[in-house]
Amino acid sequence: MERLILIRYGEIFLKGKNRSFFENLLKDNIKNALGSLAGEVYKIPGRMIVSKYEKCNEHQIINILKSQAGIYSVSPAVMIDTDKEEIYKKAVELLAEDEGTFKVKVNRADKSFAPSSMEFARLVGGKILASIPSLKVDVKTPEHVLEIDIRENGKTMIFTKIIKCMGGMPVGSSGKGLLLLSGGIDSPVAGYMMAKRGTKLYALHFHSFPYTSELARLKVEELSKKIAMYNAGDLEVYMCSVTRLQEAINKYANEAYNVTLLRRGMFTVAERLSKELGFSMIITGESLGQVASQTIESMSVVSNVVKEIPIIRPLVAFDKQETIEIAKAIDTFDISIRPYEDCCTVFVPDNPVTKPRLYSVMKEEEKFDFKTIVDEAYSTIEKVIIKADR
Ligand code: ATP
Ligand code: MG
Repeated sequence: MERLILIRYGEIFLKGKNRSFFENLLKDNIKNALGSLAGEVYKIPGRMIVSKYEKCNEHQIINILKSQAGIYSVSPAVMIDTDKEEIYKKAVELLAEDEGTFKVKVNRADKSFAPSSMEFARLVGGKILASIPSLKVDVKTPEHVLEIDIRENGKTMIFTKIIKCMGGMPVGSSGKGLLLLSGGIDSPVAGYMMAKRGTKLYALHFHSFPYTSELARLKVEELSKKIAMYNAGDLEVYMCSVTRLQEAINKYANEAYNVTLLRRGMFTVAERLSKELGFSMIITGESLGQVASQTIESMSVVSNVVKEIPIIRPLVAFDKQETIEIAKAIDTFDISIRPYEDCCTVFVPDNPVTKPRLYSVMKEEEKFDFKTIVDEAYSTIEKVIIKADR
């Protein structure tokens, strides 16, 4: 007998000729995310299997599979030789502790196996009823379903549990995206949502060391460990200092435009990095109207610096509460609410512009050598590779 985990994938099925591309991607992501925890990940028709692992790691492996986009559900299963007596024995063993109602479902990939699926399900059901008095049959709404999958290779898989996973598309199937990652609640959620749709994430964080502390950086690294779980096991994080830029803006520009100018600098750096490294989109956690810098006018003058790639804002129409619920579900909320200073909270004006006009913003930038200082910020970028937090 061998323990294994059966993986079902959802939408990949819809992809016709591309199906094997999506399947291979999912397989590679699973291998990368599991690392040395499992010895084998392989395809069978329409499904995938994880095997050759220590039983004590099964729970952890299932948790990792739950955070791989593209997986619809998983079932821990046992694989035995296709032998009727063995199957009866195992079926009874798997339901021995249960009570209530049950049903047996048989699937024969091996059509040479007799009797028919229906008949065999009835036979197995009879054995269970005879051995476990606390169980009754209910074919319509059973509390327990025992599934028997008789495969072509002389092996049979048996399982009772179906664990729902995150769905979506395998990471890497929908481009590479540069996530602007702050230490707040929103941006990790925005990243998660794009990973779920198949975008491979890379992150860019702006800091104003020494105005922002080492703790703020650690917080971003902690968040990155969580995001890495949804990004097939790791996340490349680019750290960029905007200290000099903020000092210059603070010194030369009209205070009301501080945040607008800083954000234009940030997006300029983001597009340049994206072009250099081949990312196809910039992702942010902005939500319409949330703060002065997220009015449609502010977003427009900031977006204006990005010329060649789309800016994706998955949370644009979300209420904060909706974002918070996802942040809790993906386990980033508790990290995000730790107190810290973000570069956006240093030098914040009392009365920021809420409806900046492009013309006025550009006038502010002409007061000093904005472009050169943004280039300097770009040259401070350092890369850190963060591994998933298991
Ligand atoms: P968050 O909760 O994600 O910090 P927020 O509601 O605090 O968002 P802002 O601070 O205005 O909003 O930031 C809007 C978006 O700009 C963030 O979601 C993030 O994508 C990006 N951003 C803000 N600060 C930074 C930073 N220091 N480094 C990288 N990106 C940032
Ligand atoms: Mg923020």
